[in-house]
Amino acid sequence: MSFNLATMLYESARSHPDKAAVINGKHALTYAQVDAAADRFAAGLHSHGIEPGDSVGLQLPNLPQFVIAYFGALKAGAVVVPMNVLYKADEVAYILRDAEARMLITWAGVLEQATEGATQAGVKDVVTVTTPGLPEPTTGTSFDALLATELDATEMYQSDPGDTAVIIYTSGTTGRPKGAELTHFQLFLNADTPGRLFGVRDSDVILVVLPLFHIFALSSILDVCVRFAATMTLVPRFDAAAVLATIERDHVTVFEGVPTMYIALLAHPDLDKYDVSSLRVGISGGAPIPATVLDDFEKRFGILILEGYGLSETASTTTFNVSAQDRRVYSVGRPIWGVQVQVWGDDGAVLPAGAENIGELMVRGVNVMRGYRGNPEASAEAFTRGWFHTGDLGYMDQDGYFFVVDRKKELIIRGGYNVYPREVEDAIYTHPAVAQAAVIGVADERLGQEVKAVVALHPGKEVAPEELIDHVKARLAPYKYPRSVEIRAHLPVTSAGKILKREL
Ligand code: ATP
Repeated sequence: MSFNLATMLYESARSHPDKAAVINGKHALTYAQVDAAADRFAAGLHSHGIEPGDSVGLQLPNLPQFVIAYFGALKAGAVVVPMNVLYKADEVAYILRDAEARMLITWAGVLEQATEGATQAGVKDVVTVTTPGLPEPTTGTSFDALLATELDATEMYQSDPGDTAVIIYTSGTTGRPKGAELTHFQLFLNADTPGRLFGVRDSDVILVVLPLFHIFALSSILDVCVRFAATMTLVPRFDAAAVLATIERDHVTVFEGVPTMYIALLAHPDLDKYDVSSLRVGISGGAPIPATVLDDFEKRFGILILEGYGLSETASTTTFNVSAQDRRVYSVGRPIWGVQVQVWGDDGAVLPAGAENIGELMVRGVNVMRGYRGNPEASAEAFTRGWFHTGDLGYMDQDGYFFVVDRKKELIIRGGYNVYPREVEDAIYTHPAVAQAAVIGVADERLGQEVKAVVALHPGKEVAPEELIDHVKARLAPYKYPRSVEIRAHLPVTSAGKILKREL
């Protein structure tokens, strides 16, 4: 048996050749065009000596070329290594070396860092995508030249379904990136199952503003879209006005984002000027969505937000709230098909259902990575008895719905009491002036750790730290409320839009 993930593109091009696959501003490419371009790209990789099993770094922003290169590399049998466009030279070099990449496909906008990183890692083959306003690179190969390769007799490589298709590097929110190896089969299932669950159809237009190099966008948007021959419309970087304008222009039906995006959309002063009536559903994941944000967004936009939960190591979706009938609001839903989740206590015992039984979420099943590339120790550490340690704390209710409480590393232990930052953040978000909130533990001589909040306010709003402290004090037990509040203009976020607590 053979199976290549790029079969999804090939089949959608057969069934929907003239359907728009990717919209980028005023330009659109049909499924037939993207598939043909991916074939030529695969031929171009062959002509550059890329063999099945070779890794290629893919460091592009949300451009149609990302989609072409991703499926083109898969068709060639190569392993795709998506890379953050914000990486500095050292980070580029680290990942290229770690993944033993043979080629780097990058963007003229970050060429200096990229080429320096490639040189450091000894990667000679650099292919560059140029976009309007950027100079043509004078070294390496241009993407268009590679795409112009005459098609030889090459066919889509017949991969084994268990072959690694993608090495996705954890986003580094909490540490040095590690490369999770994901296979053709599991990436296929993680597009097919969630897509069926929320009923993606070929008439859907899905907005892609999350970076495609992140697992959320790669698996839960790009792969889902192509699997069901839906249309994706690309937004290069998050900007509330650009997102709202794109929803209106392209009649977007599905929005997928992280909580900071929902917050920014809701707070946009000209929200009423945009026609967002085409939206049918919102999907949130990547970080906990504050309850007030979910409620306000649903009311204001008249749609449901379905929350899901997942990690790079689990090929994205692990649990999901499927539909209006099925969902349990504020929960991350139930495990998807072929996936099991358990809650483990510190001693490795499985905890029973109930909000009082908080433990580490453990995952087993078709979506869990093979391991971390070239890192047997970290891979071994990540599993116990075949179950993957998510590093997240949560619980399960009586009906099998899961609730993510916090990351294990972010739990605050104040004088022997557990304080879950998310609960405190939820309480802070109920204050109307608050745009972003992060609760962290700071060293305290007497208590070990003390609770601190770092907050950014909506433009034009003012509030004194003492008022915020009192606001939370009125809502939570005495050991939980922050003893100090720092107000900043913005909180640092990752390129996927998650608040970077490590930097606070
Ligand atoms: P790194 O692994 O490098 O520290 P990261 O943890 O952000 O970075 P990702 O794989 O991008 O890596 O994100 C997975 C994490 O995101 C989960 O472990 C969890 O903490 C968080 N997460 C994802 N979805 C949700 C959700 N719906 N609610 C709460 N947290 C979530």
